[in-house]
Amino acid sequence: MKPAPFEYHAPETIHEVCGLLAEHGDEAKVLAGGQSLVPMLALRLTRFEHLVDVNRVAALSGFGRENGTLVVRACTRQRVMERDAAIAAAVPLLAQATPLIGHFQIRNRGTVGGSLAHADPASEYPAVAVALGAELELASPGGAVRRLTADDFFVGTWTTAAEPDELLVAARFPVWPARSGFAIEEVARRHGDFALAGVACAITDGRAGIALFGVGSTPVRARDAEEAWLAGAGAAEVAESAVRDLDPPADVHATASTRTRIARHLVERAVTRAQEGQRVAG
Ligand SMILES: Cc1cc2nc3c(=O)[nH]c(=O)nc-3n(C[C@H](O)[C@H](O)[C@H](O)COP(=O)(O)OP(=O)(O)OC[C@H]3O[C@@H](n4cnc5c(N)ncnc54)[C@H](O)[C@@H]3O)c2cc1C
Repeated sequence: MKPAPFEYHAPETIHEVCGLLAEHGDEAKVLAGGQSLVPMLALRLTRFEHLVDVNRVAALSGFGRENGTLVVRACTRQRVMERDAAIAAAVPLLAQATPLIGHFQIRNRGTVGGSLAHADPASEYPAVAVALGAELELASPGGAVRRLTADDFFVGTWTTAAEPDELLVAARFPVWPARSGFAIEEVARRHGDFALAGVACAITDGRAGIALFGVGSTPVRARDAEEAWLAGAGAAEVAESAVRDLDPPADVHATASTRTRIARHLVERAVTRAQEGQRVAG
């Protein structure tokens, strides 16, 4: 099947993108790597009169360090997160998470901002953003820029707190202290599939970030588990706290209780691995 007809726009500045989004409202959609949007258009699961291609906006590409933060501009390709040594050094969880996303062809085109804005609850980057305490930067037509914490950004399946005329311009990942440990674990039916359940975990002295994915309508921040870890609980006890109030979806691939069991094992494994990483780092 082919997509329904649409008007194609290729602006070159953030200002122009926001102008087009404001002008066409609900009839316009941002096109980044196209790895989620294009299949949905081609299968006619969705249609838009106007596609606003952001690939020519130079200000949306690249990354840099700023005041203890790694700023990743929205249209930066996922493969950059996978391959760049500076990314792995600054935010190891991004480098660890990226190979788990689809296949390399998808990561070659798919963007960091596209994955975050698409807000699939089984995606890796939203959980990484929540676990690390990242902020998302949004630009609007008047030129205003606002920042939201990842906790506030993700509000439901494929739904974020961004307004229809707002453009995600960057994700700001805090660079955690040197003596930190990180791990991401997931189970998928086949390599490259979205995860049935997964967890992103970051720990350092006096701080923990644990976020589950594939088990709710958004990434699920496991605050009880974070507190248990800070109180000195072992990995098994932390894992138990992470799933105690979990209410995962059931589908043809896994029941809710299977997802819960998988999640508990994954948290235990991730916490163990992150602790080991912290020990080696320190
Ligand atoms: C076979 C297959 C397997 C996959 N497996 C995984 C997986 O395991 N894990 C995973 O996380 N992902 C997976 N993906 C999805 C992939 O990571 C996509 O690249 C990603 O979800 C969307 O990024 P994109 O740049 O391609 O965005 P697009 O497809 O261009 O856009 C996706 C959505 O985000 C919006 N958007 C994009 N950029 C912005 C912006 N800057 N501001 C506001 N809105 C924006 C678009 O309007 C659209 O609604 C898979 C995809 C395929 C086809």
